[in-house]
Amino acid sequence: MKTLLTVNNSGSLDMLPRDRANISDLVAAVEKSVNDKIGPVSCTWVAQISCPPSCPHMGSGCYAESGTAAFTTNRLNRAARDFATLSPAAVAMIEAAGIDTLTGRRDLRLHVVGDARTDKAAQILAAAADRYIARGAAKNKAVRVWTYTHARDTRRESWGRISVLRSCETMPQVRAAHAAGYAAAIVIPEHVHDRAYKLDGEYTGIPCPEQTGRAANCQACGLCMQDSKLHARKNVIVFAAHGQGKRKMTHLKTV
Ligand code: SF4
Repeated sequence: MKTLLTVNNSGSLDMLPRDRANISDLVAAVEKSVNDKIGPVSCTWVAQISCPPSCPHMGSGCYAESGTAAFTTNRLNRAARDFATLSPAAVAMIEAAGIDTLTGRRDLRLHVVGDARTDKAAQILAAAADRYIARGAAKNKAVRVWTYTHARDTRRESWGRISVLRSCETMPQVRAAHAAGYAAAIVIPEHVHDRAYKLDGEYTGIPCPEQTGRAANCQACGLCMQDSKLHARKNVIVFAAHGQGKRKMTHLKTV
């Protein structure tokens, strides 16, 4: 095994018994996902150094830190330890290079894990999404690119043609997202309806159809790929924190 020579915080040399990661190991770009939730789409996974440190789920219940997703998240995070000082824009450039390896034949979900937390990072991904959409169009495919963000300081414009929903935990956050031009998604402990219902009078909550059993997966549903429509209609995608079993939904009253 190789050793890695580094300078530790006290200024002395450390010999670490491991290979240094390749910088591209911070990102996984997958041509065809086998994830049941999103369906057979392309996707990216990015080490959590890309996420805003303010995300309340980081290290505390993020779905990508548990189950089988945790294997990939941990691998990316281990690689990121060698590149802890990379800027969000630099990480986005690595992700953009990953996106550029994909064929453009399928819809593309960005950030099964990860985020873009600055305008510059979002703009780099928006440009990669434009190239991706163009590759799809050259194959007569109208592919869609979508994601979610916990960043609070990025402008909606920076995401370009990426359909992006701001992830929220409270209605004040939903209102702030909407005022900033973002469609919103909100996480609640568990679904109480399986169809659309009024949220705070002004908004309409749409329980994620994959979670309620009304859609097989994201590709079949497509709601999150239309953020401008969701924003214009004040529609908010509602997620149950732990997915919620479809069978559990069957007894819920439709409103
Ligand atoms: S609302 Fe539709 S597109 Fe959005 S997460 Fe749920 S199934 Fe996927």
